[in-house]
Amino acid sequence: MTPAQYTQVDVLVVGAGNAAANAALSAHEAGASVAMLETAPRNARGGNSAFTGGAFRFIYDGVDDLLKLAPDIAELDLGSIDFGTYTEGQYFDDMGRLTEYRCDPELTEVLIGNSYASAVWLRKHGVKFQPALGRQAFKVDGKFKFWGGLACHIHGGGEHLVATLHAALEAAGIPVIYETTAFELLHDDARVQGVRARHRGHVLELRAKAVVLACGGFESNAEMRARYIGPNWDLAKVRGTRFNQGYGHRMAMDIGAAPAGHWSGAHAVQWDMNAPPFGDLTVGDQFQKHNYPFGVLLNARGERFLDEGKDFHSYTYAAYGHEVMKQPGLFAWQIFDSKINHLLRSEYRIPRITKETADTLEALVPKLTGVNPKAALETLHAFNAASRPDVAFNPNIHDGLRTTGLPVDKTNWAQKLDTPPFHAYGVTAGVTFTFGGLKVTTEAQVSDTSGLPINGLFAAGEIVGGLYYHNYGSGTGLVAGVTFGRIAGAGAAAFAKGR
Ligand SMILES: Cc1cc2nc3c(=O)[nH]c(=O)nc-3n(C[C@H](O)[C@H](O)[C@H](O)COP(=O)(O)OP(=O)(O)OC[C@H]3O[C@@H](n4cnc5c(N)ncnc54)[C@H](O)[C@@H]3O)c2cc1C
Repeated sequence: MTPAQYTQVDVLVVGAGNAAANAALSAHEAGASVAMLETAPRNARGGNSAFTGGAFRFIYDGVDDLLKLAPDIAELDLGSIDFGTYTEGQYFDDMGRLTEYRCDPELTEVLIGNSYASAVWLRKHGVKFQPALGRQAFKVDGKFKFWGGLACHIHGGGEHLVATLHAALEAAGIPVIYETTAFELLHDDARVQGVRARHRGHVLELRAKAVVLACGGFESNAEMRARYIGPNWDLAKVRGTRFNQGYGHRMAMDIGAAPAGHWSGAHAVQWDMNAPPFGDLTVGDQFQKHNYPFGVLLNARGERFLDEGKDFHSYTYAAYGHEVMKQPGLFAWQIFDSKINHLLRSEYRIPRITKETADTLEALVPKLTGVNPKAALETLHAFNAASRPDVAFNPNIHDGLRTTGLPVDKTNWAQKLDTPPFHAYGVTAGVTFTFGGLKVTTEAQVSDTSGLPINGLFAAGEIVGGLYYHNYGSGTGLVAGVTFGRIAGAGAAAFAKGR
C-alpha cells in the first residue's frame, strides 16, 4: 500500500517490529481498521525484533505448560531433562534484583502476569517455540538442567518471528506502508489525530482516531546516545537496526508526554570489536560473545576489570557492555582455555570473528591487539595462582569455584587456564536498545507530564519507559513487546470506537 491509497483508519501503528505487529493484530481483533507505518524498506523491516535470538522469558509451571507452546517437547526423552518451573515470584525477584528495585511495579506486574498468555498468543498466530537446550541448559551427568528462567526460545529467532507476524498481518488485511517515517503527532486539544510523516522525500499527513507508537528506542541515533547515555556512547556499535532513531520519543514529548525509565541506561553487551556499525541480518545476534563466565576478560592495560563469574550470563551480559565501555580504547579480550570448548555457544564459531589462538599463554598475549602483553601475562599467571576452594566446576549452578586475594576476584566458575590451545576473542560494546522511554499507564496509554493520559496515544515495546534500569534479564524485551502491544492495540481500538 502507498500513502496515496491511504484513507483514515481507526488505529495507526508506527513501526513494524514485534510490538507494532502485535498491537496491530490486537486492534484488528478488537474490530478496528488498522494501518502501519514503517520507516525501513520492506526488505529491512522488523526493527530489532528481526535480529533477536528469540529468547522469551515467561512464567511456567512445569513441562505441561511448555508442551502447549512446543508440542515437539513430547518427543524428547523427558526423563533426561529437568525443565523446573519459573514462578511469578522468581520473575519479580529477577526484575527487582536486576533493576536495583527501580522497575515500575505496576508495569512489571502486567508484564509478568501476562507473560505466559503472550507466548500462547504468539503461538496462536503461528509463532513456533522450541526448548532452549543448547543455550539455557547444560548436560551434566547425563541430564539437561535448565537455569535462568528461559525454558523456550522462539524457533528460528527473529527471522521466523517477523516473517510469521507479517504473514498474520497480511492474512488480516492490515497494510504496512514502508519507507515512511513518522516525525510529528497531529493533535488538537482533545486528542491525537494521526501523524505527519516523510515518504520518499515528501511530507504527508496520515489521519487516525488513535495512534500506537511502537517505533523502538533511540539506540541507532549516535547523537541521542551521547546526549543521554553519556560520553563515548556515540562510538558504540549498534547490534540491531539502524532505523530506531528516537522519533517516537521526541514527537510524543513534543506534545507533552512524560519521559520515564532510565534515560542514561541501555542494554549493551560484549560484541565483536570488528563488527559493522549496525547489525547485519545475515549474522543476526552472533557477533555477541556471552560465554565470558567460563574465561577471563583483559583490558588494554592487561588487567582484569570485572567479576566474570558474578552470575549466569543471562543476568550480567546486558550490563557488562557498559563495563567494556569504561576501559581504555573501549575494548577487551575474552580469554579461554580448551577445557571449556564444549560450553561455548555457536557465536564463538562464526567465520566473521576476531579470534587469536596459541599453545601457551606466553604466545597468546602478544597477539592481543592493543593489550600490554607483559601486564597481561602477569594477570593471567596471578589468576591461575590465586587460591581456590576445593569445589568442582559446575556450569549449572553458582559453583563457588572462586579466586581469593586478586584485585578483582572471579566468584564462580574460576577454573585455571591451563589446557592448551588457548583462545581469545576481541570485544567492544554493542548497544542493543535504550532504557529511557515514555511514561505509560497499565493500559499502555501515554501519560503527559501532569500524569493524565494523552487521549488517543498509546505506546508499546522498547519505547515504553520504566521496566529496565541498570540491567536486564534476557528474553524480556520480546515478551514486553507482545504484552504491551496487545494491550495498546486493544486500548487504541476501544478508544477509536468510543468505547
Ligand atoms: C541482536 C539482538 C538480539 C536480541 N535478542 C533478544 C532475545 O533473544 N530476546 C528478547 O526478548 N529480546 C531480544 N532483543 C531485544 C528485542 O529485539 C527488543 O526488545 C524488541 O524486539 C523490541 O521490539 P519493538 O517492536 O519495540 O522494536 P523494534 O523491533 O526495533 O521495532 C521498531 C520498528 O519501528 C520502526 N521505526 C522506527 N522509527 C520509526 C518512525 N519514525 N516511523 C516509522 N517507523 C519507525 C523501525 O524501523 C522498526 O521496524 C535483541 C535485540 C538485538 C538487537
